[in-house]
Amino acid sequence: MESALTARDRVGVQDFVLLENYNSEAAFIENLRRRFKENLIYTYIGSVLVSVNPYKELEIYSKQQMERYRGVSFYEISPHIYAVSDNTYRAMRTERKDQCILISGESGAGKTEASKKILLYYAVTCPMNDHMAALGDRLLQSNPVLEAFGNAKTLRNDNSSRFGKYMDVQFDFRGAPVGGHILNYLLEKSRVVHQNHGERNFHIFYQLLEGGDEDLLNTLDLERNPQNYQYLVKGNCPRVSSISDKNNWKVVMKALPVIGFTEEEKLLNIIAGVLHLGNTQFGEGEEGETYITTETQITKLVKLLGVDGSALREALTHKKLTAKGEEMISPLNFEQAISARDALAKAVYGRTFTWLVEKINQSLALKDEIYHSNKGSSVIGLLDIYGFEVLQHNSFEQFCINYCNEKLQQLFIELTLRSEQEEYETEGIAWETVQYFDNKIICDLIEEKHKGIISILDEECLRPGETCDVSFLEKLEDTLGGHPHFVTHKLANGKTRRVMSREEFRLLHYAGEVNYNVNGFLDKNNDLLNRNLKEVMCQSDNQILSRCFRREEVMDQKRPEMAATQFKNSLMKLMEILMSKEPSYVRCIKPNDAKQPGRFDEVLVRHQVKYLGLMENLRVRRAGFAYRRRFEAFLQRYKPLCPETWPNWHGRLVDGVSTLVNHLGYKPEEYKLGRSKIFIRFPKTLFTTEDALEAK
Ligand code: ADP
Ligand code: MG
Repeated sequence: MESALTARDRVGVQDFVLLENYNSEAAFIENLRRRFKENLIYTYIGSVLVSVNPYKELEIYSKQQMERYRGVSFYEISPHIYAVSDNTYRAMRTERKDQCILISGESGAGKTEASKKILLYYAVTCPMNDHMAALGDRLLQSNPVLEAFGNAKTLRNDNSSRFGKYMDVQFDFRGAPVGGHILNYLLEKSRVVHQNHGERNFHIFYQLLEGGDEDLLNTLDLERNPQNYQYLVKGNCPRVSSISDKNNWKVVMKALPVIGFTEEEKLLNIIAGVLHLGNTQFGEGEEGETYITTETQITKLVKLLGVDGSALREALTHKKLTAKGEEMISPLNFEQAISARDALAKAVYGRTFTWLVEKINQSLALKDEIYHSNKGSSVIGLLDIYGFEVLQHNSFEQFCINYCNEKLQQLFIELTLRSEQEEYETEGIAWETVQYFDNKIICDLIEEKHKGIISILDEECLRPGETCDVSFLEKLEDTLGGHPHFVTHKLANGKTRRVMSREEFRLLHYAGEVNYNVNGFLDKNNDLLNRNLKEVMCQSDNQILSRCFRREEVMDQKRPEMAATQFKNSLMKLMEILMSKEPSYVRCIKPNDAKQPGRFDEVLVRHQVKYLGLMENLRVRRAGFAYRRRFEAFLQRYKPLCPETWPNWHGRLVDGVSTLVNHLGYKPEEYKLGRSKIFIRFPKTLFTTEDALEAK
């Protein structure tokens, strides 16, 4: 049989550390391309899995394949997402340490598919009784529900997750899954009220219109055609050829009861309510006052959202202020009324989504009796979160997303370098320093107290008087002027290569430069919902809504945390969670922008290799040694090559390996023997040995 190592000319190397010229990006990409052409979408960098989206169904995910990867060590068979799943699981079992799998890559690269495959692997291969099988079912069924409410068609991905997701799967001492928990990050709420050309709102709206039966639509006062709803027409893209909204609706409706959901009606009232809210229109009177022109919409809204009609009418056209201890009502102008309406739609949808995640968490929660008998349990965490994003026009959302990726890179540096170093130490081999860029300076630039970008943004949002996006930009320039990773039009004085507009600032991220347009930063960070609208919602007799809008929040005079700070704090928590675990990495790459199979666009791939920091990753991994293997495994494989080790070696393992490599003529500078592993410096040494084995 052709071994994975000897087939390298045709299919490339299955581990990048075996590349002869590991500093060459061209060689790296050529290796990826060769493998991709052979449908080998997976390649390792040591223990990191690189995956290229095939955009077609491959026959590599069957139950038989799962069985092949069970209990098998990394190097023995071709790279696979199942190998990562299995290794992580076994590490958790044998080392009794919590694990996590971090999946990154840009939109459409295959992150969510990878995370689903990992979950499925556990659901199929882990030991389970009936109770656990039911839990596994809930874990799997939570996916279509979350995707219906949190995914949308974008230009880059027909099923793009518009939120970040971290999921814990808890296992008991026998290695059976017993509980789960989901944390969600930064849902892209702006999509509820606006979509770019060729994009859609969240799937659930179309599913409901397409799949709901006549009676249901009648009850919700909805018409089937999405073109009738202002919140669904902006992208001019009601249908997507790769998606069946009708079938997906059925899947979601079947999944809801599995995850213990009984409040379906209330949930659908809210979804329909959001659509009707979008159709609520305003007019402008002689005196500049604003009034509602679509009275019938209000009647529908009152029914669906379970709120008071006159209070809602007033709250959509007026705002309540407290000045010098007195309450005042002031009318909104036309634009303000529209943004109040949109703010309400975003708040209702966003909070309902959070509520839904909580609901799913209740159904996945470790049952008490298991919790108490479950002392030896451990956790595998799965992170499926937006990758580094550089669009034509980058705004607050890209700023948050890229900040998140800086943090993940910090974690990566911390954990990989640390574990690399630890391995050298435990093996008693001298540590050789690796040059790498520490991006802490960029994290500080963004998050430092008082003088980081987020602090300055918050301050600008709170400062009384005339503040605007431009005054925010000026504040940034004043405070961060000399920072090596921060540039604006003014600071650059025409010295940058790419033109910048006067409304932008540029961050020099670890992965490259990104220009952010400050337009909308203040509003998005404020994320304000007028107090009287909150009051209306917390009196709703729809219990989902009254749970989402709490009375305490309305009473509380203190300003809630602003969006960027909230995000920063949730990221800090996430980092803590991840730091306490043993990480594995899956790096996903999108081969082309056309969502087509077989096409490998080198320019596009090169960008991603850069953004994902893969070359650096490889350099760290190769620092010193290309290859390492436990003595037993090395002896087992190569013992036929030496008469003294064949058929069996009876002495100490280290002496066996030593005898073997002496016989093979390894020079002292080519390898080192640690306490339990042999470290080989150059791939060539290993290939020569492999070839010898092949020739035998
Ligand atoms: P991301 O979560 O990174 O944005 P997805 O996981 O949603 O990307 O993948 C986008 C699309 O690419 C999927 O809907 C699917 O059609 C295709 N795809 C991704 N991974 C695979 C795979 N391993 N095999 C086949 N198709 C895939
Ligand atoms: Mg996704």
